[in-house]
Amino acid sequence: MSKTKNQVVDVLVIGAGPSGTVSASILNKKGYSVKIVEKQLFPRFVIGESLLPRCMDNLDKAGFIDAISAFGFQKKFGAKFLDNERVSDFDFSAQFTKGWTWTWQVQRAKFDHLLAKEVEKNGVEVEYESAVTAVQFAEDGSSISTVTKKDGTTYNIEAKFIVDGSGYGRVLPRLLSLDKPSEFMGRTSLFCHVKPKMVYDEEEKDQILILVYTNEIWGWVIPFSDGTSSIGVVGHTEGIKRYEGTQEEKMRQWIQEVPALKSRFTDSELIFEPKEITGYASAVTKHFGKNFVLTGNAAEFIDPVFSSGVTFATESGALAAELIDKQLSGLPVDWQVEYTDYIQRGVDVFKTFVSSWYDGKLQKIFFSEQSNPEMRQQICSILAGYVWDLDNPFVKKHKRAVQALAAVL
Ligand SMILES: Cc1cc2nc3c(=O)[nH]c(=O)nc-3n(C[C@H](O)[C@H](O)[C@H](O)COP(=O)(O)OP(=O)(O)OC[C@H]3O[C@@H](n4cnc5c(N)ncnc54)[C@H](O)[C@@H]3O)c2cc1C
Repeated sequence: MSKTKNQVVDVLVIGAGPSGTVSASILNKKGYSVKIVEKQLFPRFVIGESLLPRCMDNLDKAGFIDAISAFGFQKKFGAKFLDNERVSDFDFSAQFTKGWTWTWQVQRAKFDHLLAKEVEKNGVEVEYESAVTAVQFAEDGSSISTVTKKDGTTYNIEAKFIVDGSGYGRVLPRLLSLDKPSEFMGRTSLFCHVKPKMVYDEEEKDQILILVYTNEIWGWVIPFSDGTSSIGVVGHTEGIKRYEGTQEEKMRQWIQEVPALKSRFTDSELIFEPKEITGYASAVTKHFGKNFVLTGNAAEFIDPVFSSGVTFATESGALAAELIDKQLSGLPVDWQVEYTDYIQRGVDVFKTFVSSWYDGKLQKIFFSEQSNPEMRQQICSILAGYVWDLDNPFVKKHKRAVQALAAVL
């Protein structure tokens, strides 16, 4: 460890993704000294561009809504599922749970940078191009983290509490051996941004399009406000390996395979070379320890199909901040009940939906002609991220509700 004097803060946040900045902003507003250490230089690319209405509640708690509104991101009002000939539309204004009925589709490089600049403006120091590379916890729970700067030099930060919002970096799960295998199989996704030749009409722009190819292989189109779109394909790794050649050639094969993509994106410009990510599902043995908490993807990530990642990142970031405040104010916190069990209840609802997507039950429900309008509203609330509303039977008894409905249909 370096001999320089330790920097001292109340809370160290690892990573300036949405879970880190939401947490930092709430803690900063409560008067704590907060520092974010971020490995990369922003703006930086990260996947996860279609938000859910539920995350608006958390962005609001963090005080971000005005800044995001002013930026002019594409508004999103629903999700459209499409297979070869059938369409299933979910409009968030027709959902069971009372809450936000819309959200945004964002280029994450711009979105995450905007949130980081907002917290900086409000007094949080964000140190870019520096990584947390080691952490030691003292008996009293306080911690000393080693920060390694871009030039290789190190210094220490002493903090009363650490929020690990390091996403795919999974800093504390790695350093403290908290990783455990996810129950979801290793899938692969290939994605990029495109400039379509055919411009969408407004109605088509304001929703995510989920394209069903087989039960196991599906894709997305996420239109942005500047006329470009994010497109991607997801499937079991063997299924994605069918595509051959360069990343661009693979992406163009996917485009040619799906009629809805072929008509829009043949010959359109790929803005960057398609990226590929494999085995992104992750889980941990515990979400917290004495004076640290894991938020967002640093804790768990299931699957991209219902765009739940940023919602869980902001939900856990916001809740972590509230509980840290409680603890640092000298009040007792039952982290298992108040944090893990709460987050897990929502995660479990999405796990049921993700499993039922890949085994075909949900696709049967979505495309059925005999749909029950009340149940569609309840399902719509899940797709909007309202997975903690116990009045919704698809939350309260998620497994049974999905199985029973699929069996009836
Ligand atoms: C194919 C695919 C598609 C997806 N689509 C969607 C979608 O449409 N909608 C959605 O909501 N989610 C989606 N997701 C999920 C989404 O990517 C994540 O859930 C979300 O980005 C998690 O946010 P976060 O704040 O936890 O972490 P991140 O956004 O990953 O941010 C973590 C930050 O921590 C930094 N970091 C890492 N290591 C260190 C270190 N040692 N020290 C300091 N900083 C560090 C990183 O540089 C990064 O900036 C998708 C995921 C995949 C795989």
